Amino acid sequence: MRKLRAAVVMLLCVCIALPLAGCGQEKFEKQIYAMNTTMTLTAYGKNAETGLSGAVSLINSLDAMLDPENEGSMVNDMNNANGEGTVVNNHVVTMLKTAQTVYTQSGGALNPAIYPVVKAWGFVDCNYRIPSDDELTELLQNIDFSKVKITSFTETGSYLVTMPAGMQISFGAVAKGYTASQVIATLRAAGVTSAIISLGGNVQTLGAKPDGSNWAVAIQDPNDTGSYIGILTVGETAVVTSGGYNRYFDGEDGVRYEHIIDPDTGKPVNNGLKSVTVVCDDGTMADALSTALYVMGEKAALNYYSTYGGFEMILVTDDGRVVITNGLYEAFESYGSSYSYEYAS
Ligand code: AMP
Ligand code: MG
Repeated sequence: MRKLRAAVVMLLCVCIALPLAGCGQEKFEKQIYAMNTTMTLTAYGKNAETGLSGAVSLINSLDAMLDPENEGSMVNDMNNANGEGTVVNNHVVTMLKTAQTVYTQSGGALNPAIYPVVKAWGFVDCNYRIPSDDELTELLQNIDFSKVKITSFTETGSYLVTMPAGMQISFGAVAKGYTASQVIATLRAAGVTSAIISLGGNVQTLGAKPDGSNWAVAIQDPNDTGSYIGILTVGETAVVTSGGYNRYFDGEDGVRYEHIIDPDTGKPVNNGLKSVTVVCDDGTMADALSTALYVMGEKAALNYYSTYGGFEMILVTDDGRVVITNGLYEAFESYGSSYSYEYAS
């Protein structure tokens, strides 16, 4: 009997010394700053530590590759190609293709070629200013993203991208979503079966929580970023939020100018929405859609949802409503009393 008790005590000690190894799944967490935002990566189990190291290297290399201001980066090369072709990799092609789809389907609401306008407002270097109407008109001359062409060479497995001379793009509206999906793929390849990552407003999950239950993702209150409007309970998916509240400046004219630009006017979007959250299995698509639907506004966003589907969404309006698509009826639980909640199909 005493021997048995000693064995049990030994076993307990081993479990405490090696937290949860063999008794559950150990939690590993990494926090890094990349792509102008704080990223938190949480993974569970014996492969988590190796998986997370790989994920951090991947994030840093994507950050360097995609930054248009980083001389010699792939996007910088594309922007300086002067109408010639640029050889690009799979990462760039995947983002371009998703952006092209959403550009077309949203009637140009998502447009990576709006970059020079984003820059003119100071959202790239934080030297905020209000560009003149003439300056905006000039910058809007060269934003026809449908002119960006991808040529694929199957023999070599390479791609060439050609853009009109002078056009400048950035993947600011899709890069975090794409990176999140690549981080999840890296963790999966390393043998991780349970993880949740948050890259700024982009959350993506792998598998279920270590105990087999679903993940809980809080949806930020755009009027009070320390609070939330509700909780989403999800399995393996991406949850991405766009909103003007994430980056803005207050002009000397007393007007608040936000970082998401309406490509029709070159001015910050001001159409009755505070935020758009998209739930979609494809992280890149979730990111592209959240930006596009934010630009489009409530009515057009709901039309887009019923026309194309393949995702669910939560809209927070200026007039205090939270509009949730029916597919989230079971998954969403409201929080607080600042908003009225309604469902839409
Ligand atoms: P997100 O936070 O994913 O909605 O992306 C917003 C970022 O995308 C902004 O900070 C800009 O860098 C860029 N951006 C702003 N307006 C647009 C637009 N209409 N289409 C594509 N990218 C945009
Ligand atoms: Mg986006």
